[in-house]
Amino acid sequence: MMRKDIFENLGQVHKNIEAACARSGRDPKEVTLIAVSKTKPIEDLQEAYQCGERNFGENKVQEIMQKQPQMPSDARFHMIGHLQRNKVRQVLPLVSMIHSVDSLRLAREIQQEGERIGRTVDILLEVNVAGEESKFGFAPEEVLEILMKIHNFSHIRVCGLMTIAPFVENSEQNRPVFKKLFQLYVDIKRKNIDNVSMSVLSMGMTGDYEVAVEEGATMIRVGTGIFGVR
Ligand SMILES: *Cc1c(COP(=O)(O)O)cnc(C)c1O
Repeated sequence: MMRKDIFENLGQVHKNIEAACARSGRDPKEVTLIAVSKTKPIEDLQEAYQCGERNFGENKVQEIMQKQPQMPSDARFHMIGHLQRNKVRQVLPLVSMIHSVDSLRLAREIQQEGERIGRTVDILLEVNVAGEESKFGFAPEEVLEILMKIHNFSHIRVCGLMTIAPFVENSEQNRPVFKKLFQLYVDIKRKNIDNVSMSVLSMGMTGDYEVAVEEGATMIRVGTGIFGVR
């Protein structure tokens, strides 16, 4: 079945990214769209792939195990949801990046498993910028301390930071959250820590990705705005 809606939605999202880049003097090539396909059928992912998308975001290991083998080999899967340590072994071979590293114990598990299979794993540290009780992630003040504990892990490459901003009525309300994470990202980048590249800033979802791009996001995670409501 032709999915004209996905094609049109993707066109709109890319246009909005370009406009946000123009407003903030950024190059759209610096911004990677992650199509968040959680709960959606494989046909929707295939349609987005046909439209040129190569990056897909999922939050459940089970779903990645089911979908990844059905997609062309250049489709990249990003783990964006809370990851349990006992699922690391299953998911590692299937994903190109883990955005949601939210504990030292999880980082250790990824290191061990990466070493076992001989792969260096790209990860982001999840930061709970707004300090919401209901959310996973490190407090902003903890990030440097965690980095100093994991930067020498042989099979982990810390590529940057990720946040899930609060649910808000008006996306402008999240601008301070994005500004704060960008500042932390720049501060850490300036320290030139061994093995820490700080080249990825994953922030912004359907409701607020344009603001996130204006504030320096290099990866945005958009689900509803591409595939419709879940
Ligand atoms: C579901 C999800 C998204 C996408 O949310 P939308 O509002 O549908 O764009 C982005 N990031 C994470 C971590 C998610 O779980």
